[in-house]
Amino acid sequence: MPKTRKKVLLSLLCLVALYIVWLSFHLISFKTYKTPEEPSTRLEIKGAYHIHSTFSDGKKSVEKIAEAAARSSLDFCILTDHGSPNYKSMDSQGWKKGILVLAGSELSVSRGHLVALDFKEPQENFSQNAELAAYRINQLNGFSIIAHPYSKTHWTWGEYAGYSGIEIINADSMVKRNYFPLLAYLPALLIEPEFPLLKIMRYPEKNLKKWDMLNKEFTVYAYYATDAHLLYRPLFSLLRIHVPLEENLSTGFEKAKNQIFHALRNGRFYNSIDAAAPADGFQFWGEAGEKRIYMGESHPFNKSISLFIKTPDSIACKTVLIHNENPVLIGTDNSVSFNPPEPGVYRVEVYLQERTPLSKNCPWILSNPIFLREKTHGKNQ
Ligand SMILES: [Zn+2]
Ligand SMILES: [Zn+2]
Repeated sequence: MPKTRKKVLLSLLCLVALYIVWLSFHLISFKTYKTPEEPSTRLEIKGAYHIHSTFSDGKKSVEKIAEAAARSSLDFCILTDHGSPNYKSMDSQGWKKGILVLAGSELSVSRGHLVALDFKEPQENFSQNAELAAYRINQLNGFSIIAHPYSKTHWTWGEYAGYSGIEIINADSMVKRNYFPLLAYLPALLIEPEFPLLKIMRYPEKNLKKWDMLNKEFTVYAYYATDAHLLYRPLFSLLRIHVPLEENLSTGFEKAKNQIFHALRNGRFYNSIDAAAPADGFQFWGEAGEKRIYMGESHPFNKSISLFIKTPDSIACKTVLIHNENPVLIGTDNSVSFNPPEPGVYRVEVYLQERTPLSKNCPWILSNPIFLREKTHGKNQ
């Protein structure tokens, strides 16, 4: 072998060896946390929202998706196959492998993609006009969520037509936007897939700003969406929706379905990046005398109201209470309380302070707001 070829080969081998050492170092130092055996709220359940199966452009069948959800210790998962609606996907709902499988549909409408949930089966397809589709979904007792508003099919804002929610983080969009950083960790996808996925999560600045702006006038809830087409199990570990319930999840399908959708349509849930650390047990509530105010609720403002935040024990984190769009309290204790001096929209972001591949400025937990209005607003006025 000529000398120069040998040198090039040697240098390449050195580079590969260095890369393996660098990647191994990152993977070895990736600390995973176990879900607490006894979560502080035993009635809290968790699931994944925005999932595609083989009924649209997903790579796995509903049964396989339920299997992946069970392996990720989820309680429920919400299919959102493309269609207007996707009847086959919706017919697949039920208990599978111990997982409550629910389904809505992701509609392609004039302003972008709109997820429709919990609607009575329509006699005809939904309109492709965003406002008309949203109106019809509400008419059929359903609710709708604006999907990935600033990526893939960008949402073109117009009149706010009674949408119930907006996606703040969408994992599929994060992958597509941060393709190059992901490439650096590509082999890790086979060994510890949560690690590269955590590495590409970014602060969703535009989505949060828009959400805060909308909530000045309307009542809009936030979602972390997996938008899973493949890599189901890692994505189900990555982004989760936590739903605190008042009674155990029913074993009957219809009642269990109502329990989940009742919580979602009322904003009584929070989002988290659980692959960084399990968020089980997070709580954000208000007290007005004897009355407890839940996440997602509106309550007339008075100066005797207190807000309380509880983050998971023994996980170091920074809690930020936001009033309208401004932080009003930053704390590092696991228990925080606050007396709001003025009306407005109060919500919580929690940032991990532990060693984690998740960026320190990406919200590990995102609560839904408590709306302390001057006087009680109706929903989506
Ligand atoms: Zn979409
Ligand atoms: Zn989708």
